[in-house]
Amino acid sequence: MIELLKFTNVKKIYNVRQGIFSKPVQAASLSDVNFTIYDDSTLSIVGESGSGKTTTTRLVLGLEKPSGGTIKYKDKDITKFSKADIKQYRRKVQAVFQDPYSSLDPYMTIENLLKETLTINTDLSKKEIDYRIDSLLDSVGIIPEHKKRYQDEFSGGQRQRLSIARAIALEPELLVLDEPISALDVSIRGQILNLFKDLQKKQHISYLFISHDLASVRYISDYIAVMYFGKIVEYGKAETIFENPKHPYTKALLKAGMVKNVGENFEQHILEGEIPSILDPPTGCPFHSRCKSCHKLCLEKEPWDLQIIEKDHYAACHLFNDFTI
Ligand code: SF4
Repeated sequence: MIELLKFTNVKKIYNVRQGIFSKPVQAASLSDVNFTIYDDSTLSIVGESGSGKTTTTRLVLGLEKPSGGTIKYKDKDITKFSKADIKQYRRKVQAVFQDPYSSLDPYMTIENLLKETLTINTDLSKKEIDYRIDSLLDSVGIIPEHKKRYQDEFSGGQRQRLSIARAIALEPELLVLDEPISALDVSIRGQILNLFKDLQKKQHISYLFISHDLASVRYISDYIAVMYFGKIVEYGKAETIFENPKHPYTKALLKAGMVKNVGENFEQHILEGEIPSILDPPTGCPFHSRCKSCHKLCLEKEPWDLQIIEKDHYAACHLFNDFTI
């Protein structure tokens, strides 16, 4: 497997003012985040709102710079990219967002929308662009003859297919899928997930999948990173995480989710307590106020970074350190 994108000890710190006249304070949104996305594979990041998923996707898309650590794309530090590297990276790393309505220009036909992307970013001839538009639409399940239509002439599921067509127009190697099915009708979510799987198989695209929907995560993922309070607390192969979760937070998420059907969301179920504020971080383990296995040590000392539990399975919790609590 080839390492496509690698986060090593990535930190993101914001200066936050709590009032107009107050001094800014530093708040860590991400702390020492490590993960790798391999070619032809899907890494999902799960966690409640406020866990650091959005900051992670913004860093991957180059919308923000890390405050520490390195983010490497094919072994090159993305913060040290030249202008040409940045242009190439933006072609190779694309995104599909939750809301297909806002990601498509309502005043352009689908044909013109795709033509614009291909004309600006490629050297294809007019004839090649026409052919490419038809084949893109075909690959996402839209009848090419409908390319003269505007986005509001399509259903929600079709619009998301069109967003996907635009995202894959430049033959990306990595797609950030940020809640790509949560705004869609439950009946068509499975179809869009199948489309992602199909595209991955045929076009060898890797995915960073962000979702609250654990059934979808299980269906699409090769690896899963569970995030809490800006850190990855458990990481491993998807089936291992679902079959043998180790971290108390992962167990609580899976219990809260207990989802069997695509479309269910673990935040619709009850997970007691809330993530602490990054402006007032607790001492010890950030999960301690919600953890049923909490011990004295957990109140005093933050767990070490991810410890290996078994092959391809890691957790950050005092339960898995060398000493027993
Ligand atoms: Fe629970 Fe302690 Fe593990 Fe934190 S370190 S998850 S409080 S057992």
